[in-house]
Amino acid sequence: MIRPVLPFMVFWMISTLSPPLNAQAIQAESSSQVQWAIAIHGGAGGDPTTWSDELRALRKGGLEKALQIGRDLLTAGNTSLDAVEAVIRSLEDDAAFNAGRGAVVTEKGNVELDASIMDGKTRGCGAIAGVTTVKNPISTARLVMTNTKHVLLVGQGADAFASAEKVPLVGPEYFLSSRHRSPHGPDELERDHFGTVGCVALDTAGNLAAGTSTGGTPQKLAGRVGDSPIIGAGTFADNGSCAVSGTGLGEEFIRNAVAYDIAAQMIYANKSPQSAVSEIMTQRLKPGVGGVICVSHDGQIVLQHNTPGMSCGAADSSGRFETFLFLENGGRTQVADADSLGKDEAEISELINGQADAWNDGDLDRFMSVYWKSESLTFASGGNITRGWDATIDRYRKRYPDKKTMGQVAFTDLEFLRLDQAAFQVLGVWNLHRDIDPIGGRFTLVFRKQSDGWKIVHDHTSMLEKE
Ligand code: ASP
Repeated sequence: MIRPVLPFMVFWMISTLSPPLNAQAIQAESSSQVQWAIAIHGGAGGDPTTWSDELRALRKGGLEKALQIGRDLLTAGNTSLDAVEAVIRSLEDDAAFNAGRGAVVTEKGNVELDASIMDGKTRGCGAIAGVTTVKNPISTARLVMTNTKHVLLVGQGADAFASAEKVPLVGPEYFLSSRHRSPHGPDELERDHFGTVGCVALDTAGNLAAGTSTGGTPQKLAGRVGDSPIIGAGTFADNGSCAVSGTGLGEEFIRNAVAYDIAAQMIYANKSPQSAVSEIMTQRLKPGVGGVICVSHDGQIVLQHNTPGMSCGAADSSGRFETFLFLENGGRTQVADADSLGKDEAEISELINGQADAWNDGDLDRFMSVYWKSESLTFASGGNITRGWDATIDRYRKRYPDKKTMGQVAFTDLEFLRLDQAAFQVLGVWNLHRDIDPIGGRFTLVFRKQSDGWKIVHDHTSMLEKE
């Protein structure tokens, strides 16, 4: 069943109005020269344009401070594990994030903290869940990794371990008195649900590490554990592929083994980090559930979210240093970069972009001009097949009678597969942004070269279910 997702919609309305961030800047860049790379997040969730200026400034300041710590450590040749731990400690001490000091509370009104860390060189990992007294859960998670033969300690046992390890412990007032509260009323952390923190890094020795720390989801049941301390769900690192940290609805990240899935796609399907992340964010996770940060073994950084916002940042040895409260188009590739495409792919991508422009101008005839003007055209959507150009345009006219219903379309994540000299298969993602019932999904197009240029001869369109 398709239901409109209000925050998602508001985000799209706002993001189309706001000045574009540099979309290319957040894409994986050619990174052969990069000696080290780091990405951080401070939670995916609500639309930052609805926050108070104060919270926006606190979040930006906290991200910048943490990213600087990571950048300085990596520049000085420290390990990625040290950088990940230090960055996350800084965010845990910052009450503007939902981890450590600023953690959200359970239905019982107390905090239960989760964290994990993983070493990509050894696949060593450590995690704690449901702790109530630990000031910096990420450091205790690291001690589980180094000082025990276990991976995950929970509840009282984990608190007792922390105490035996003599890490700084704090009472409930440390968490409850210091959470960021908006001068404008309700606690904004609670309202926007998210603020989990995470860090992934590649060091100059070529080792990857990942870590995540959280207070969990607000008003969670006592004893609930999310994805953040679950290796393979919220955190994963392996030198052969990438380091990942996730944020969002932990239950969905556990069900989809998100962090490991990204690494597995790179290893088994030979995918780029950008395409592995896009695949899970756009095709397997429902819209509005969260975001991930990823750094690959060769230093490519990917930041992506399918929520209205994600506090995040990236830096590397080329001088890149940037932080965001949300990314244009959630960080997904807008369209293929024309320079990296062959001539045929560039022509086809141009046509698809032209179709989006025509649609957004409300011009269905221009949109349809890319379809093969033949009775043999097939258009398949939602299990129905329409045959022929005339029938297809009729179908569109009925379904989208006016500009309001047409909304604004975006075609992204194009993948090209040459079938023969005069035929291409093109996969992609479509999203229709409009006030009522924004929808989106995948498409598979078959293009054949006709005497008047490339034309779509077959269009298979599917729709993604929304929360
Ligand atoms: N993933 C975290 C959890 O489910 C929450 C978040 O990232 O905001 O515990």
